[in-house]
Amino acid sequence: MTRAFNFSAGPATLPEAVLREAQAGMLDWNGVGASVVELSHRSAEFIAVAAQAEADLRTLLSIPDDYAVLFVAGGATTQQALLPLNFAAPGQRVDYVLTGHWGKTAIRQATPYADVHLAADAGPGGFSDIPPRAGWSLGADSAYVHITANETIHGVEFRDTPDVGAVPLFADFSSSIASGPLDVSRYGLIYAGAQKNLGPVGISVVIVRRELLGRAGQPRADIFTYASHAARDSMLNTPPTWNWYMLGLTVKWMLDEGGVEEFARRNAAKAALVYAAIDGSGGFYRNPVAPAVRSRMNVPFFLADEVLTARFVAESTAAGLLALKGHKATGGLRASLYNAMPVAGAQALVDFMRDFQQRHG
Ligand code: PMP
Repeated sequence: MTRAFNFSAGPATLPEAVLREAQAGMLDWNGVGASVVELSHRSAEFIAVAAQAEADLRTLLSIPDDYAVLFVAGGATTQQALLPLNFAAPGQRVDYVLTGHWGKTAIRQATPYADVHLAADAGPGGFSDIPPRAGWSLGADSAYVHITANETIHGVEFRDTPDVGAVPLFADFSSSIASGPLDVSRYGLIYAGAQKNLGPVGISVVIVRRELLGRAGQPRADIFTYASHAARDSMLNTPPTWNWYMLGLTVKWMLDEGGVEEFARRNAAKAALVYAAIDGSGGFYRNPVAPAVRSRMNVPFFLADEVLTARFVAESTAAGLLALKGHKATGGLRASLYNAMPVAGAQALVDFMRDFQQRHG
């Protein structure tokens, strides 16, 4: 068996140790005579799995006690629709800082439920930079300010937490959660679909300051209510148990490997390798993002000669470097360098990039 280096943006590569452990327990988990995926979410065994995953995530991300951690079915887009429903009064202003494709999605999901205000828009610059904080137009009465911490498609990442004053800061950390240290207390709410750094698709994590759960929001069903999920330990209905278990294994693996400080180090090393290969290619490869905000998780890049893109994808795939094709919104190429991607994977990619350039440059 050979496992390739998988640069997919999500669902994405997972640690081999996690996959092996899941495989080992697939038929008979911990001697219970059944798979985890076959256990009731109300069983003592699964409740222990769920509680351990939460405890480990709290340790990994140093989540303060006054924050609830929710494990909810579905992806980040669902959370984007639930934000205004839970936290904005009908018609209340919400401020969105738009730095790429997923910020647009967040705005689209919120628009039916709130008065969405574009606080800053990187669109006119082609989403290649983050508008300076000083120029953001924020309302003192807004329900929250929303940012996309890392834009998975445009490859733009907030390197610092912006200061937005008294209005709570909400952030989509889908593609950068646990990639490095994070001061949770600076945020009112953090959400992330699991399918990049945390595990398989189908579950999202929501980390929310408990006091915000007291907001009335808007008329909505109980199942769309974060406070109800919090009150029932995310077991308001049948949670995605397998995904929760896999998330727990992945978080445990990150702790065992040295935690977020260690991943920050590895991720910086991987990103440095790939950006150096792009910037040192004499224009053969190009990344359009301002260096100060280049993503450490997702590196979009383009060939000067666009007709070579399909050849790059075919040859890299044949060389065991998977899923380097860029998103259809931008074209080009993209390397996602999540926590489970070893430095050796980034090295293999840059070796291939240099070889490809030699043959086609
Ligand atoms: N936000 C970001 C930053 C993403 O990368 C993605 C998915 N790639 C989404 C939101 C949407 O997530 P989902 O498909 O899980 O709804």
